[in-house]
Amino acid sequence: MNIKIKPEHEIAIMRQAGRIVAEVLLILKDSIEPGMKTMDLDVIADKELKRLGARSSFKGYHGFPASLCVSVNDEIVHGIPGEKVIKEGDIVSLDVGSIYEGFQGDAAITVGVGEISLKSRDLMQATEGALAAGISCARDGARLGDISAAIQGFAESRGYSVVREYTGHGIGRQMHEDPLIPNFGTPGTGLDLKKGMTLAIEPMVNVGDWRTRPGKDGWVVFTADGSISAHFEHTIVITGGKPEVLTIV
Ligand code: MG
Repeated sequence: MNIKIKPEHEIAIMRQAGRIVAEVLLILKDSIEPGMKTMDLDVIADKELKRLGARSSFKGYHGFPASLCVSVNDEIVHGIPGEKVIKEGDIVSLDVGSIYEGFQGDAAITVGVGEISLKSRDLMQATEGALAAGISCARDGARLGDISAAIQGFAESRGYSVVREYTGHGIGRQMHEDPLIPNFGTPGTGLDLKKGMTLAIEPMVNVGDWRTRPGKDGWVVFTADGSISAHFEHTIVITGGKPEVLTIV
């Protein structure tokens, strides 16, 4: 494993990269409405990233064709924006990555479109809560398994399941750096966490079973059982005290 401890001047740039991601997500959240195509959101993300002096870390990544991942309902992650029309009642996961002055920010939110079901709302709250629980464990002297277990414990206590095959990750000059951050695990195990580590923590939580099914385009990932899924992500830095969230406005 090659864990990069970031000095303060690099964290300062990542703070900017993170703020840009957060701004773009807010704009997307405000823009989304029934009748839009998912590709309309990609156009907005691409334009706003450029306006803020950044570019998408996803576009061209292993050939990914868009600036934004849009995953609707039973799509978990990595949805390619396209002709799909967003409907009232959908839950839509939006994942944005920025590259700014050589450093990356990565965050995701799931938003409800118009009136959504109580189950959808509860799933989104549980996933956001699982992310917060995981972040709260990202402290100097703690272990990686503490983050994983906190996420899993929170989601499962609400009756949901965490996706196993896709994980959070270290982040810095590269979008995906060591370590992998599973959304399930055992407290007190794994890597020792240290001040200056920058991590993208990202629970993907399903109403039904945790198993996944790949889509035909080679990118989008569905829940195997067709149940709905939510995804929340922040880029954070481990400090000497409370973790600092970098992907906020
Ligand atoms: Mg990520």
